[in-house]
Amino acid sequence: MALDVSRTLAFAQKTWDEEILPTLTEYVRIPAKSPMFDPDWKAHGHLDRAVAMIEQWSRARAIEGLRVEVVRLEGRTPLIFMEVPGRGDDTVLLYGHCDKQPEMVGWGEGLGPWTPVRRGDKLYGRGAADDGYAAFAALASIQALQAPGVPHARCVVLIEACEESGSYDLPHYVNALAARIGTPSLVVCLDSGCSDYEHLWTTTSLRGIVNGVLTVEVLTEGVHSGVASGIVPSSFRILRALLSRLEDERTGEILLRDLHADIPRERVEQARAVSGVLSKRITQLPFVPGGRPMHDDPLDALLAGTWRPALSITGAAGLPSPTDGGNVLRPMTAAKLSLRLPPTVSSAHAAKRLKETRRRTACACGSRRRRPATAGTRRRRRRGSRRRCAARRRTISAGPRCRRARAARSRSWRCWARAIRRRSS
Ligand SMILES: [Zn+2]
Repeated sequence: MALDVSRTLAFAQKTWDEEILPTLTEYVRIPAKSPMFDPDWKAHGHLDRAVAMIEQWSRARAIEGLRVEVVRLEGRTPLIFMEVPGRGDDTVLLYGHCDKQPEMVGWGEGLGPWTPVRRGDKLYGRGAADDGYAAFAALASIQALQAPGVPHARCVVLIEACEESGSYDLPHYVNALAARIGTPSLVVCLDSGCSDYEHLWTTTSLRGIVNGVLTVEVLTEGVHSGVASGIVPSSFRILRALLSRLEDERTGEILLRDLHADIPRERVEQARAVSGVLSKRITQLPFVPGGRPMHDDPLDALLAGTWRPALSITGAAGLPSPTDGGNVLRPMTAAKLSLRLPPTVSSAHAAKRLKETRRRTACACGSRRRRPATAGTRRRRRRGSRRRCAARRRTISAGPRCRRARAARSRSWRCWARAIRRRSS
């Protein structure tokens, strides 16, 4: 039995306006910040209030066989587990989260994180979209199928409370509930973006991420720059040099070759098909006058933002504000790094490579100031890296590795050797 489109649309509109929006509006008022932004979440009780609100709303749905349960594992944020029996033994998992991002800044006139405001057909406030709507949308969709009697698979809805902190509690719940979840043939993750409201968007791939903090320490306390500069290496310069091993500072390209992926042809075609719509989104980014994207071609920009690795500095420490007085050589500089990875590159692998980068570089430019290289040192250094390169190749060929793995390893090594040479020259 097929869905009647206009009836379903009318049902969705009515349910949304009359049954979902009032509760979602109240949900915006709850500062249910993710544990990372509210370490005292348990004492504050906001997450529990958000969970209770969604639980109560869900229980009142006219969905046949719906079972709602709040599961609490010791010392972890709660999770809402819902189950709707279906026809056949297929299971569909619908996922969402009820914890929110912190307040942040930049709210428009009259708007705020915990103040729900309706303007036109939009509801403003924290959590309405990301990701408060998920539980409501999941159950309303099941209801939209059941109302006209359209058969559906068994549905499991998971609403976690830790997503904005990296979902560190979710795997524990998935393990604990594995038998009850079953083996879903489809996972609908209701927590992604859309580029306009005229199309139905699905996200086919997302980049992964590796976060880290890179700290450079050169002194135990600050010293006047008139006394120490030129003698003590600048912590900021070392930081800059270390970052340049990861990223070409002129182009923004990530230099670690094996953090790049071959983009599947069909993904390029799909990106091409939607690049027109998405280019609007790129031009809507809040560039300063004269500022422009790194890529002129929208397809290139789209692939750069979805399939290519990129580094962002999302925090810095050790540096006072530029308007602060004093001329002190900073004893320490730190940068918070956020490295986005192609969907097919494992973040564990990337984290390992980043650690290697740090290790290899720390000895080259940490405490020891490097003398300008003479032709002789350059030759010696080149020989050195070749020797190490050959040694490594030997260990690679000794292992039972396939040719592709060997090639990848030596490719990545060549990249290292190149980086070392670049540093030495
Ligand atoms: Zn989210």
